Amino acid sequence: MNCNEIINKLKTTQNADKDELIYLLDNITDDERETLRKNAQEVAQERFGNKIFIRGLIEISSFCKNDCFYCGIRRSNKNAVRYRLSAEDILSCCDKGYALGFRTFVLQGGEDSHFTDDMLCELIGEIKQRYPDCAITLSLGERSFDSLQRLYNAGADRYLLRHETACKAHYERLHPDGMSFDNRVNTLYKLKEIGYQTGAGFMVGSPFQTTENLADDLLFIKKLKPQMCGIGPFVPHKDTDYRDFEHGSLELTLTLLSIIRLMNPDILLPATTALGTIDFRGRELGILHGANVVMPNLSPSEHRKDYSLYDNKICTGEEAAECLVCLKNRMRSIGYEIVNSRGDYRQLNNKEK
Ligand code: SF4
Repeated sequence: MNCNEIINKLKTTQNADKDELIYLLDNITDDERETLRKNAQEVAQERFGNKIFIRGLIEISSFCKNDCFYCGIRRSNKNAVRYRLSAEDILSCCDKGYALGFRTFVLQGGEDSHFTDDMLCELIGEIKQRYPDCAITLSLGERSFDSLQRLYNAGADRYLLRHETACKAHYERLHPDGMSFDNRVNTLYKLKEIGYQTGAGFMVGSPFQTTENLADDLLFIKKLKPQMCGIGPFVPHKDTDYRDFEHGSLELTLTLLSIIRLMNPDILLPATTALGTIDFRGRELGILHGANVVMPNLSPSEHRKDYSLYDNKICTGEEAAECLVCLKNRMRSIGYEIVNSRGDYRQLNNKEK
């Protein structure tokens, strides 16, 4: 099969096998990339029209017990500035966000044992009581199954846990001993079983990544069937061993967004901040390639620069309201409109095989 035939197969069957995905990623031409993009945009527009969902991101802690080799807030980075938001800080971010029109709050942080189940359950309960029309997404890394169940019972709706790479050997080159690929994958399945709207995802262009790894990532997403998928280019951080690696390619990230959209037509697919970091128009391009979500930052501006997963992260200086205005203008410039809704996953009558 040539690239156009594979694109057509993706569009009509939402499937391709591993060899076809590898062939497509390695051989796609600019013209074929444009065909892929148009198809992905069309599928996203069938589902979401010109509407873009927003998620208010609240970065609650820059402490992390883990030591992922690529991450700027890894435990062993002595230069990282550590902070934690108090429950009052977090609620105040939600207050501001709600007034701005956000109906999803994403509580994200490193794996920080300071945030016990009791503390988080109370916080989730309080947010739900104040804003019963809002969804709560957690992005707090791997927790015990019991903990994940408790947080769900307390009212959390969604959980983001990027798998980072679907290849165990590759995972082990990005993470130290003691971090388990199997546990990460099992946790993703558990999240789905509990009932969370679940988000997986991976880095594009991470150190030692091969095209085969990317094909495995695409097939893993297809198999897991998460409701959300966050992908962004790898961006190096100066205080990690991977500081000298190139960032992931814009073109490849966009191509993968389009393929994910064709393989998973209903999936909630963000145009990530990392994409906006490697290219001034990265998020707009992400939308034009099939993404349908953006995640402006609601964290207090005095802490933004300290949640430094990678270098040169954008939007670390602005207030939440400024971020939102900027994004609204960016979306408008390409004919899209940000909407104030929870933006839950909905399965339309796709022709999934
Ligand atoms: S990637 Fe996540 S789990 Fe790993 S060190 Fe960074 S914050 Fe911690």
